[in-house]
Amino acid sequence: MDFEIPEETQMVVDTVRRFVTEKVQPLEMATEEAAIIPADALARVKAEAQALGLYALNMPEAVGGGGLSTVDMCLVEEQLGQTSDALIRRVFGQVYPMLMACDAAQTERYLKPTVRGDLITAMAITEPGAGSDAAAISTTATADGDDFLISGTKHFISDGDIADYVIVMALTDAEKRARGGITLFLVDRGTPGFKVARTQKMMGHRGYGHAELVFDNCRVPRSAILGELGEGFKLIMASVAAVRLAHIGARSVGMAQRVLELMREQANGRKQFGQPIGDFQMVQQMIADTAMDIFATRMMVLNTAWEIDQNRDVRAKVSMVKVFASEMLGRVADRGIQIFGGYGFTKELPLERIYRDSRVTRIYDGTSEVHRMLIARSVMKRGLSL
Ligand SMILES: Cc1cc2nc3c(=O)[nH]c(=O)nc-3n(C[C@H](O)[C@H](O)[C@H](O)COP(=O)(O)OP(=O)(O)OC[C@H]3O[C@@H](n4cnc5c(N)ncnc54)[C@H](O)[C@@H]3O)c2cc1C
Repeated sequence: MDFEIPEETQMVVDTVRRFVTEKVQPLEMATEEAAIIPADALARVKAEAQALGLYALNMPEAVGGGGLSTVDMCLVEEQLGQTSDALIRRVFGQVYPMLMACDAAQTERYLKPTVRGDLITAMAITEPGAGSDAAAISTTATADGDDFLISGTKHFISDGDIADYVIVMALTDAEKRARGGITLFLVDRGTPGFKVARTQKMMGHRGYGHAELVFDNCRVPRSAILGELGEGFKLIMASVAAVRLAHIGARSVGMAQRVLELMREQANGRKQFGQPIGDFQMVQQMIADTAMDIFATRMMVLNTAWEIDQNRDVRAKVSMVKVFASEMLGRVADRGIQIFGGYGFTKELPLERIYRDSRVTRIYDGTSEVHRMLIARSVMKRGLSL
């Protein structure tokens, strides 16, 4: 097994690392304070990222993306994790891989402009009555001649407040549900019957919004269907593995590495009782545990990414990474604050933001409990095939 990172991948990783440190991290404080990314600075930095080819790196080259393998994307995501989710979305793009199911016309109208960074999209699955049990949605899309009428409410939708168009999951056959009765639709902002009802304030992720979206007999043409009629659930499930791995797994590694770096500086620099606090064994334990946590998660992420690149079925492994990485980040963020004492609790360091932002990684993209259930089911059926 070759663990060497190829030179060209390392160059991309180094470029992203420099870009994040020099151009993106300086925007964090202002974004946190105002809960909005400073517009001028964002336009400048996003244009620079695009010029360097760092936008939508996860998408295939054929549609204008970076064309990275899953392993390479995870190595890049570790670097993206060195800043906040809000900034990653806006500067480097948030393009959902399921958009690869666009037909020729949709590719020109939605996919390519999104990959270029001209359009913003959101994905609307969750509803007030259906979260973990996504197949229990009650939003319906009823055929009406050549059109469909969408009715229902979605909530917690990231970027739902500003998206130019939303990928909406709706029931087209209430009997079949996940087995052929759920369809994805591309719905433009401003379509009559579609409104952003309210934004929902969150404990973290300042700098981008989460919204409740209401569809009331919202008429869309048949050509708005993404993929095939009735195949929406399958399409989502087929594309979430790589997203979970990169956005939660690899990004958590990056965020934890940033925390460890701060912990290291503090342990070496801060003196109490006449000596660096890093001389105290209980402080050393925090550092050692954090280093082990990061190392273990990183290996899990990269191994699973490699298996995805070999087209292997890694659903249970992705669930393991999702749970382990998100819980690891929670532990690390907590230790980071602890090692800084009172200073860790202030808003002068990125630690308290990371502490708040990291909490949701155990909730979205499937809660820890649901993923544990999936892992257990898989192990009970097939054993632990690593
Ligand atoms: C910041 C943020 C951004 C989000 N962005 C999006 C987005 O862009 N698009 C979108 O569609 N959704 C989004 N979501 C929604 C997110 O995916 C859901 O919150 C998540 O799936 C959990 O659903 P729920 O909140 O309804 O919790 P519930 O499903 O009600 O879960 C409540 C509790 O019950 C537990 N539970 C549920 N079922 C089981 C079970 N079978 N076994 C054991 N325990 C169980 C859960 O683990 C949890 O502890 C976002 C949420 C947040 C907070």
